[in-house]
Amino acid sequence: MQRFEELEHVQPVAVRMLKQMITNQRIAHAYLIHGDSGTKKRAIAQTLALRLFCQETDTIEPCLTCRDCKRVISGNYPDLHWIKPDGLSIKKEQIEALQREFTYSGVESNRKVYIIEDADLMTVNAANRLLKFLEEPSQETTAILLTKNQQQLLDTIRSRCQVIALRPLSGQAIEQALIESGVTPENARLFQAVAPQLDQAKALDQDEWFAEARKLMVQLMQLLIDKPEEALLFVEKNWMNHFDDRDKLLMGLDLLLYWFKDLMYLHIGDIEHLVLLSYKDQLEQASLRYRRIDLVNILTAITQAKRKLNQHTHPTLVMEQLTLQMQR
Ligand SMILES: [Zn+2]
Repeated sequence: MQRFEELEHVQPVAVRMLKQMITNQRIAHAYLIHGDSGTKKRAIAQTLALRLFCQETDTIEPCLTCRDCKRVISGNYPDLHWIKPDGLSIKKEQIEALQREFTYSGVESNRKVYIIEDADLMTVNAANRLLKFLEEPSQETTAILLTKNQQQLLDTIRSRCQVIALRPLSGQAIEQALIESGVTPENARLFQAVAPQLDQAKALDQDEWFAEARKLMVQLMQLLIDKPEEALLFVEKNWMNHFDDRDKLLMGLDLLLYWFKDLMYLHIGDIEHLVLLSYKDQLEQASLRYRRIDLVNILTAITQAKRKLNQHTHPTLVMEQLTLQMQR
């Protein structure tokens, strides 16, 4: 259970907006709260629901101690409904059941709130049913729709909601969330660098293609130091085979960028910012083999290679040229 004050640290704009509406007693009939995983959609919805039911009306924060607050927190409040996908979708029957419940007057008060999680997963029939419901708002009913993909909701639903956009998580917040979900700190650092969203970052932990990509990257870096004359053949045989389309190759180039940026961080003694923490020993060894000017040149070459790929230069050509530049 989080108070607005705590949520405001994570989502300052959204929470301030809600607090303003509470102060002015201008509660909308429907809210659409959208943001990536981990952006606190559910927590904000729950705190808003608490505020709407709490008996203590002089404060912005719900009191969390009155009878109504306690019952909302226990998940056992008849006038608050949470709707979640039943399997892969939210079905028409679920919305109909909600409507039936709400046709009777409030059990505890006239105030009613329903929260629809993953609202983009409503079937077309469910969405149309909800739309009818939204078109006949009752004074005391508040709908709170939550989604990661707001563009997949019907425009007609979106236009009836007060839309609240949550800001994306910072890299640091994603890293923290990954660690809390059981990812090792070393991997969490790399995954948040590679994937800008928590769901994508989490998926990397099970991604065999990505695990192999990391291995190849380290092998290539080791070859460049131990047997630079074999690097080109390795790129042609192994690298191009694994990174077999443009997006994958761009990911490969990003891994190379992290490697050489990390070498630069080691050169300037800034280990706080290392991304490839799992390979700290190899990085420390490698950093002795490059001068700072070499690193600058290689980083520039990788950035140029990314640009060429984006301009559709032939991938093999781009990688061969880059390999020669990395050999110095
Ligand atoms: Zn209360």
